[in-house]
Amino acid sequence: MKVDDFGAETGEGNLTDTQILTRRNVLRLGALSGILALLPKGTATADPVLGTICNPNRPTTPQDALTALTDGNTRWSTQTQQHPGEDTTRRDCVASNAQTPFAAILSCSDSRVPPELLFDQGLGDLFVSRVAGNSAARIVEESLGYGTKTLGSLILFVLGHSDCGAVKAAVASYPRKAPEFVELIYPAVRRARKLVRKSGGDPRDPAQVVPVATDQHVLMQADRLRKKDPFRHLIAQKVLMVAGGRYDLSTQQVAILLS
Ligand SMILES: [Zn+2]
Repeated sequence: MKVDDFGAETGEGNLTDTQILTRRNVLRLGALSGILALLPKGTATADPVLGTICNPNRPTTPQDALTALTDGNTRWSTQTQQHPGEDTTRRDCVASNAQTPFAAILSCSDSRVPPELLFDQGLGDLFVSRVAGNSAARIVEESLGYGTKTLGSLILFVLGHSDCGAVKAAVASYPRKAPEFVELIYPAVRRARKLVRKSGGDPRDPAQVVPVATDQHVLMQADRLRKKDPFRHLIAQKVLMVAGGRYDLSTQQVAILLS
């Protein structure tokens, strides 16, 4: 998918590369952070380069972006959510201004794992690509590229989860022909079987292989994305972090596997 396709929706299609870089520089340097700290929570701010920022508490560094996600998950798992960015002010703001998400998320389509809820984030905070099995297929990768390079997300987070039907299907059907979203998990299944065997377990036992394959798939997707542009270039510029984790349906906690 071309950036212009998105730009037509967001009103950013006419931005030049220089303007996009300038936007990112402003976000990275946190030039607004001092101003933002003085404003009431939830108040939109105006900036000569970015225009209106609807999520003024937006983190300004990759590490802060990771902290915002983990703090949000702590609130979710302890049922102390703040439900940020759901009020009328935010709704009206994002309806008439460009988006400035701080995190790009690659997660599973599973209805029990909605990123905005489990990270306790609001409208305009997360740029989410969801597909069963959270695999970075080409079209997903391009979408995440838009969310990071163009929109300035500071973190690309790959999110797997326990009891994933796609991973279970991959473990059950490996190495036979299967739908693409299942076959994309096969490399992780292959590695998981080796690891289970190495640790003295039974690589034919799905109960032993599925949890290992779930984590390996997150790690392998994140590692692959890290090595590809535009992500590799953004990481080298220190304006992006690629991280990964696993959401546990029982505890509702995200365990960080990679940061
Ligand atoms: Zn899943």
